[in-house]
Amino acid sequence: MTSFLSFAELCQRIEGISGSIEKTALLATFLFELDEAELAVVPSFVMGSAFPASSEMLLGVGPSTLYEALSKATGATSKEINDILRRTGDVGAVASEVVGKRKPSTLSSFIEAEKLSILDVYSRFLELARASGKRSQNVKMKHLRYLFGESGALEARYIARLALEDMRIGVGEGIVRDAIAKAFDRSSEEVERGYNFTNDLGLVAQKAKEGRLSDLTIEIGRPIKVMLAQLGSGIPGSMEEMGTAAVEWKFDGSRVQIHKNGDEIEIFSRRLEKVTRSLPEIVRFVNEHVRAESAILDGEAVARGEDGRPLPFQEILKRFRRKYKVEMAAEKIPLELWLFDLVYLDGQILIDEPLRERRRRLEEVADPKILAAQTVTSDPEKVAEVYGEAIAAGHEGVMLKSPQSPYAPGKRGKNWLKIKPVMETLDLVVIGARWGEGRRATFLGSYRLASPDPDTGKLEDVGWVATGVTDEMLIELTDLFRDLVLVSGEGMEVEVKPKVIFEVAFEEIQKSTNYSSGYALRFPRLVRVRDDKAVEEADSLERVTFLYATQRGRNGPSSV
Ligand code: AMP
Repeated sequence: MTSFLSFAELCQRIEGISGSIEKTALLATFLFELDEAELAVVPSFVMGSAFPASSEMLLGVGPSTLYEALSKATGATSKEINDILRRTGDVGAVASEVVGKRKPSTLSSFIEAEKLSILDVYSRFLELARASGKRSQNVKMKHLRYLFGESGALEARYIARLALEDMRIGVGEGIVRDAIAKAFDRSSEEVERGYNFTNDLGLVAQKAKEGRLSDLTIEIGRPIKVMLAQLGSGIPGSMEEMGTAAVEWKFDGSRVQIHKNGDEIEIFSRRLEKVTRSLPEIVRFVNEHVRAESAILDGEAVARGEDGRPLPFQEILKRFRRKYKVEMAAEKIPLELWLFDLVYLDGQILIDEPLRERRRRLEEVADPKILAAQTVTSDPEKVAEVYGEAIAAGHEGVMLKSPQSPYAPGKRGKNWLKIKPVMETLDLVVIGARWGEGRRATFLGSYRLASPDPDTGKLEDVGWVATGVTDEMLIELTDLFRDLVLVSGEGMEVEVKPKVIFEVAFEEIQKSTNYSSGYALRFPRLVRVRDDKAVEEADSLERVTFLYATQRGRNGPSSV
């Protein structure tokens, strides 16, 4: 039985180092010592999730519940808790300080008493997740109090972070995968393959320990990672690279992976969450239009507006997230289904078959009504034609797929290339910044963006950008903004003097109530710092509104 304290010590050590090789080595040594049940849990714990990604369990603990539990377990006042939070911006620091200062009614406030095992913590998390109904808050509180009551300062630090699923030790899938491989002397490829088939690193770790990774395979009902696309370099370049391509519309919707087992249908989202209950018409389409006893199908669900054009991504999300009155939502935002791949059919795994063959089998079992049209060609002109049709219909562009390629779960490779219009960029004013975490703690790494309202001249925010900032830029930008800090606000955020303009690319503009502009950028990415522009020259809200109104999927393409 491994104590939670030893897990907490591992996290502390990992948090203190920046190199992923050292992190991997520490984790591998730890994993090596664990028993089977612990191996099922630790891979997700170390990435900051109470449960594996494949699980439907949700902890459902918010900051206020957590702080209340800490206060009840330690006697700390909410003012004390708030003060520490303001000073550190870290729930883990809050927990370890208040637990560390707790009146010494138990020994554990003096020494780390190692009362809790990793599995104790996991089973309390299970209880938390299972709590439902009116009394669920009380039940959650009881288990959290217990956990903090039994833990010392270091354990509390990581229990608190885990409870909010924000671990901040810089361990992601890659490090866990490599650590499993290293711990049990397997190749990274074998581990990755097992993971792509099961989406459960705990299970992969268990099998790796037993030397039975090859047992892991595709199973109906268990989602596999989806194959992804790389951005192609325009039509001529991409066609030159691919030679002959299977060309399909790149639908503007959301990915669905559909498992059919007799009459039982399960639908998983791009992130492999079960969304079956939210999408009853997709279940019906598959029942009516797919002639297979068992199958795993890959496709895109598209929300269709009254004018027949696809609705913005946000509308689809509403459908995917909807849990109640689902049929009503389905009437308001009806979905279409477009299937483009077949991974498994009637007991046969097809991922190693070439796309050409998978497509042939898909055409055999699925009605054209729900089948994405495909053109196989080596002529760039033909591709341009399909591209034009897709854009005119309000979709994103085209996908070029290599006809002889296997289905590579979880891979973003050259066998699928996406061709999309280049979106306009916006020049926005930086009005705030946020200190980073872990290795980036001494850098300002995320930047709050705003656009001037042409009527009032006021800067209204449109969200944050952190992507596209290289390590080198991080140093330069931190120096630049350090001198511009106006107010060090709560926790990690600072307000900065509006002086710097960022040119920002994005996938889409969305309506949002989160920001004062009323808009938010989807997937914003820093293109460059516009040293040549003054704040007065930033793009105004008028232009944001214009781009929103004219972007693809609304009134046609913004630019091709
Ligand atoms: P992106 O999200 O920009 O990397 O593009 C990949 C996504 O495009 C996939 O995950 C699908 O959700 C979506 N998509 C739309 N049409 C297709 C298609 N014909 N083939 C594959 N993916 C498609």
